[in-house]
Amino acid sequence: MQTMQINSLPTQEKEWRSAFPILNKVLYGKYPLVYLDNAATTQKPRQVVEAMTEEYYNVNANVHRGVHFLSMQATDLHEASRETVRRFLNARSASEIVFTRGTTESINLVASCFGQAFMKEGDEVIISEMEHHSNIVSWQLLGESRGIKLRIVPITDDGRIKMDDYEKLFGERTKIVSITHVSNVLGTVNPVRDIIRIAHEHGVPVLIDGAQSTPHMPIDVQELDCDFFAFSGHKVYGPTGIGVLYGKEEWLDRLPPYMGGGEMIKTVSFEHTTYNDLPYKFEAGTPDYVASTGLAKALDFVTSIGLDTIQTHERDLTDYAMQRLMEVEDMNIFGPKDVSLHDAVISFQVGNIHHLDMGTLLDRLGIAVRTGHHCAEPLMHRLGIEGTCRASFALYNTREDVDALVEGIKRVRQMF
Ligand code: PMP
Repeated sequence: MQTMQINSLPTQEKEWRSAFPILNKVLYGKYPLVYLDNAATTQKPRQVVEAMTEEYYNVNANVHRGVHFLSMQATDLHEASRETVRRFLNARSASEIVFTRGTTESINLVASCFGQAFMKEGDEVIISEMEHHSNIVSWQLLGESRGIKLRIVPITDDGRIKMDDYEKLFGERTKIVSITHVSNVLGTVNPVRDIIRIAHEHGVPVLIDGAQSTPHMPIDVQELDCDFFAFSGHKVYGPTGIGVLYGKEEWLDRLPPYMGGGEMIKTVSFEHTTYNDLPYKFEAGTPDYVASTGLAKALDFVTSIGLDTIQTHERDLTDYAMQRLMEVEDMNIFGPKDVSLHDAVISFQVGNIHHLDMGTLLDRLGIAVRTGHHCAEPLMHRLGIEGTCRASFALYNTREDVDALVEGIKRVRQMF
């Protein structure tokens, strides 16, 4: 069955899929895997896994502090990866690229360091109603320790930021805006250029959570003019355990370190310690230098296909999926209906079939979707629901995957 599906695909899609061995899996002895849980994590192409294996077998040594051959080679690879990330985001300098464990750590780093440097009791951070928990709780932790307040931008019923309300939230106590580029639940593509421009008109910096945009569209941090940008390697075909915080040099320079330890210092005495230059000031301890190689390979992989090409392909799939899903009786799709505002993620609910039942039964047909609140409980409260079923696309998904999903949902519906 799987072979027939592959044979019927256009050449470019066949080629893209062939880089991902896991897509050939057959589940429960008969169903070809239809992987539609890409917003949670993407599959890894051969190039990524092989480059990491190769580094462990042939290069492995701790970076930065060695004078021996392997350490210098590992350091060169790690720093070359940083340069690949710089190019990918079009940052001005590699010193603006901080390796972290992922989006969550990147946001926590900004909340903690920015809060420490620039916020005092009663100051405010603007976030939106559609944020992932990592962009809520990081600021709440700061609120608990320093008395910082959250101001929440409301959204429309179809999941778009209310821009008029956004602008009204600014006041003397507003110190930073932290907003997601693309919603991991609704797929809404937020108008981040306007969000950033308005914040800057009020003299306020902006952190963009790019976890769900980086895999799907070209990102240019200079053009966006964001002050900070966070993303995770594993959502963009890279390994787990590595992510990035981009920060404008003038901001990163002014922030205190996040964690203490090796790498982040210049000199240490019991009386006084001086900190390392950017970006090392924020990279305490041994970095995951093998994962950085994997991340760079993943970014090379998507760049070689082209983010514009990926975006066109995924927009087509999203559009097709929205149309086909509407064939299902009692289908309720959340988020914007206009596909130009709706990116690669579709949350839905069918009648009163519980999302967990839907997800579990789709799994029995080989279809992987995610169910639940998607780490966005406040958004669930806003929508008046407990959870959704979420299908999310990657470059290797096809119209055949969408057809399988729709036929699967129809079958599940018949069971109820
Ligand atoms: N923000 C958004 C919008 C996300 O979708 C996610 C992951 N679901 C995160 C932040 C957190 O990413 P990670 O778990 O990789 O740190």
